[in-house]
Amino acid sequence: MPDYDAIIIGSGAGGLSAALRVARAGFSVLVLEAMPAFGGYLNPFSQKGYTFDTGVHFIGKLGQGESFWRMLHGLGIEDSVKFIELHPDGFDRYVFPHFELRLCKGKERFVERLVTQFPKEERGIRKFFKVFDKITEAMGASQLMRGRALGMLRFILKHPAMVKYSRVPYQRLLDEVTSDKRLQAALAAPSSLYGLPPARASVFTAIGVWDHYLTGGHYPLGGSGAFRDAFIDALRKHGAELKSRSRVVSIDKRGNEFVVETESGDPKTARIVISKADPVITLGKLVNSEILPSGIRRKAERLRPSEGVFYAFIGTDLDLPSLGITDANITHFEDYDINKMYGVFLAPTPPSGFPVFFITSPSVKDPFCGKAPEGYHTIEILTGANYAVFEKWANLPSRKRGEAYEALKENMGERLIAAAERYIPGLSQHLDFVEYATPLSSEYWVNAVRGGSYGPEQTPDQIGPGRFMSFTAGIDGLFLAGSGTLGGGVMACVASGFLAGRKATRYLES
Ligand SMILES: Cc1cc2nc3c(=O)[nH]c(=O)nc-3n(C[C@H](O)[C@H](O)[C@H](O)COP(=O)(O)OP(=O)(O)OC[C@H]3O[C@@H](n4cnc5c(N)ncnc54)[C@H](O)[C@@H]3O)c2cc1C
Repeated sequence: MPDYDAIIIGSGAGGLSAALRVARAGFSVLVLEAMPAFGGYLNPFSQKGYTFDTGVHFIGKLGQGESFWRMLHGLGIEDSVKFIELHPDGFDRYVFPHFELRLCKGKERFVERLVTQFPKEERGIRKFFKVFDKITEAMGASQLMRGRALGMLRFILKHPAMVKYSRVPYQRLLDEVTSDKRLQAALAAPSSLYGLPPARASVFTAIGVWDHYLTGGHYPLGGSGAFRDAFIDALRKHGAELKSRSRVVSIDKRGNEFVVETESGDPKTARIVISKADPVITLGKLVNSEILPSGIRRKAERLRPSEGVFYAFIGTDLDLPSLGITDANITHFEDYDINKMYGVFLAPTPPSGFPVFFITSPSVKDPFCGKAPEGYHTIEILTGANYAVFEKWANLPSRKRGEAYEALKENMGERLIAAAERYIPGLSQHLDFVEYATPLSSEYWVNAVRGGSYGPEQTPDQIGPGRFMSFTAGIDGLFLAGSGTLGGGVMACVASGFLAGRKATRYLES
């Protein structure tokens, strides 16, 4: 008799939702988390009276009845966490050298906004949104697809846009609709939300992100930790066991039972395993290679990770609202050529500048939940970062990487803060708290492969069948969830756990 029905590895968004889906069906569940705290990128950190989010700035599709809300409803936690709706007229600001575009709630309203800002490009804009409609319709239909070859053939005939854009980068679509470089830049402005320039991003990812946020932006009241806690409370209510400081080091199968071992030994057995650890780690390092089909192993080995980020987490006594900082995120672009700018800040050498960076203030978005001491605010400034810049310190323990690493972080951080002063004047003179994080921090805290922000990078060859979108890995009873399956982003990861958990539940019931 195995110890548990299900062992879930990793407590990120995908792991938590998979665990909850299975626990709600009445099965016994053990969640094993490597770090002292649960949540992965949902886990905030607190220091000196400030609380910072590490992987949640805004989330879409959360209005009552919308798809993410329905998923939370399906998990029974839609009322356990409240979401603050960010200003619907402009919750994500894209600031270019000569104009600013504000993402608003509602596709039609946003189209009109674009047409007003680019009147000569109206045809291109409308053409873009025609393709957008076809792709979003096809993406919705693909979730309902039943049957195998015949179903697939019908789907392809009905949705030719899915085939047309499946292998090409987003830049190809931009070139098709307009040659205006400013409009192209505007249509690629949310690129930091998938960490890829249009020359490399999948069309489906770029369109999917627009679609996600055109329903409006939301932020969890109390921050990402409150969202994480809604899952944890529900899991405990349903009898699940959660263990932190339990890094899984091996997964094996003996007969019909899985044997999962952690760093501290003490193997546990289960009928099924759902792993949220990246597929490169799960299939390349944890699963006994003798039980893994070689084709699956090769597929995992080929996966390239997404790019990482460099963060500055700041506590300040500046009165941010009086300086014009609102609940909207700001993405700064020094130029219109987003492909070229990614080449600069993602170079494998310390960056000479920060042509693209992102600013957000959790304490302005959520002034009610004590994210900063009275009279103070939190700010997070982020930019993309190449793991190679920090790689030589990768094998040293966190906080003991030495002076050269600290000096590099200081240098990059100070320049990033100086660049952000165009939006927050005087910031460098008002730093009450500063902490910098690099892709090594994400590697340490979340076990992200090469510190990647969004799992495997979301290029055309690594989306859909190029990932592990079936949530399976060729071993009966082993399931995958998290950003290595459907893609990065909180909603995609919760959806992956929901769907992997559903598959696992059916398997357990069969
Ligand atoms: C800077 C940044 C900003 C972001 N902003 C947003 C945003 O505004 N909106 C949005 O929707 N998305 C955002 N995202 C993306 C989103 O946060 C992630 O895609 C999502 O949370 C990842 O969930 P996951 O299920 O893949 O798990 P992860 O968060 O990757 O967590 C994995 C967990 O598994 C654990 N683990 C790994 N290996 C093992 C092992 N061997 N044994 C035990 N435990 C293990 C890790 O310790 C970790 O806790 C952002 C990401 C980043 C980096």
